[in-house]
Amino acid sequence: MKFDSSGVAAVKARADIVEIVRRYVDLRPVGGRLVGACPFHQETKGSFNVHPERGYFHCFGCQASGDVIDFYCRINGLEFREGLSRLADEVGVRLDSGRPDPRAGEKKRLRQACLDMHAVADAFFRRCLASPEGKAARDYLERRGIVPEVAAKFGLGYSPPGWQALEDFLKKQGFSPAQAATAGLLSKREDGRTWDRFRDRLIFPIRDVAGTVVAFGGRIMGEGDPKYLNSADSPIYRKGDHLYALCDARPSMAKSRRAILTEGYVDVITLHQFGYGDAVGVLGTALTPEQIKRLLGFCATVDLVFDGDGAGRKAALRSAEMLLAAGAACRVALLPEGEDVDSLLQTRGREAFEACLGGADEGLRYCFRAVSAMARKEQITWAEGFLGKVGDANLRAAYAPRVAAALGLSEAGLRGALADAVVRRQAAVPASRRRESPGLELNPRERCIVTFAARCPEYVPALRELGAGDYLSGPAARSLWARLAALGDGDPRLVFEELELDFVLEARRLGELTDEARRELFEEISGFLRATRGESARKELMEAMRRARAVGDTGEEMRLFAELNALLGRGDE
Ligand SMILES: [Zn+2]
Repeated sequence: MKFDSSGVAAVKARADIVEIVRRYVDLRPVGGRLVGACPFHQETKGSFNVHPERGYFHCFGCQASGDVIDFYCRINGLEFREGLSRLADEVGVRLDSGRPDPRAGEKKRLRQACLDMHAVADAFFRRCLASPEGKAARDYLERRGIVPEVAAKFGLGYSPPGWQALEDFLKKQGFSPAQAATAGLLSKREDGRTWDRFRDRLIFPIRDVAGTVVAFGGRIMGEGDPKYLNSADSPIYRKGDHLYALCDARPSMAKSRRAILTEGYVDVITLHQFGYGDAVGVLGTALTPEQIKRLLGFCATVDLVFDGDGAGRKAALRSAEMLLAAGAACRVALLPEGEDVDSLLQTRGREAFEACLGGADEGLRYCFRAVSAMARKEQITWAEGFLGKVGDANLRAAYAPRVAAALGLSEAGLRGALADAVVRRQAAVPASRRRESPGLELNPRERCIVTFAARCPEYVPALRELGAGDYLSGPAARSLWARLAALGDGDPRLVFEELELDFVLEARRLGELTDEARRELFEEISGFLRATRGESARKELMEAMRRARAVGDTGEEMRLFAELNALLGRGDE
């Protein structure tokens, strides 16, 4: 299904691109446009341009470009549809009709009230941490080695033990207990009685990617269960959507192109304190697809740092599978048993942590090692399950031989089982949610090459040199290639027809590749192109030799034979 284009147009008309970009980027006017430092790659120059009249942004550094919806999706790590519908909600457009949503005003007010209450609660908790009541929490931070400046940077607070402390404070600021319960700050019984959700806890504010507090996490200070408690879902917070400290880690991640992903709040804060500014946390749930999307908006490699115990190893396996399936590179570092990130750093320093990172396994290799302990049948189930999760066909084709080889399975058998699994999975997805096929007739090799050319335009000249143009002979592939080759750093919207444009934009939405991944993919493709080229040259030579032999021209035959050997790289053997 396509979204009604009037809905898309209405969102673009009502969402102010400048207002939305300004949430993340400082913009200054230059001529008729606005310029700032790109949020999608590390720079200070200000290659990022916004054209308010045309409703369009473009970065000369990393070639990111698009309209307000593209920007919103990319910065929030959302897929187009999801981003569009959230943005539509924000600006009050009903997507099915493109008309203003009659309930939009009310929804917007509710959201705003929730944000305001969180800002009030945030200030309240911080003040409590600094007050005499917060002594135990301050002592706890000291014991964990967190210095006050870092605690302040992460906005740590304390919720007093009373049942109505925050409730009373919010009331004074004009918020009713019912409102505060909707915001997830108070708990509410069926009879309407309300009380503070967080009591006697060290408070960790959870911020969205723009740095706005949308929820809290709390660690109990005295005895009691649960040890960690997070906000309930609310109009501004959905469990599993956010990563702890992502807004703080974003600038470092853009520079290092990786993220350190770990489990606990204190671990993340300690990592930052020790100079690992690209650390983020998973916030008390297993890693979710939404979190992965958010993360991969800013980096391409994820270092998973988990506990070395059974639970940690299991969580690492699951997280690595998900990251690999999403096309990210990942490494898995397990902590020595009995240690966690913060004890390791606090007692043994950066070197010990670096040693731990240095011993990390590449993600897929880690999975193989973890799976090798399983029974044969379970291994096969795992292999099928893992490959079935890989949405991108090129990626699946790249993983399948490695999986087959590592587990001693036949690749053909694996592919067969996999094809069944993919069909089953497709059937289980309602038709309305099925990803639209780009609709171009491309065989897998052609698709792989043109996808790469669309994602990494800087390699187009090298591909041309290797004869990609000759290889891409199907009509769809030929046309797409010709336009990609002519595109340079131009705007694809001006060059491509609808289906092709969908294909190119979809390819670019796959996310950015690291330089290393680009080189690797290029090597793979160039190896294949060279081999193909060699194969047709070999056929021609063999044919010419056959003709020379038929007419008894031994000299010509020997010359061709030497040429053939040179082509096959065999020298004079
Ligand atoms: Zn950029």
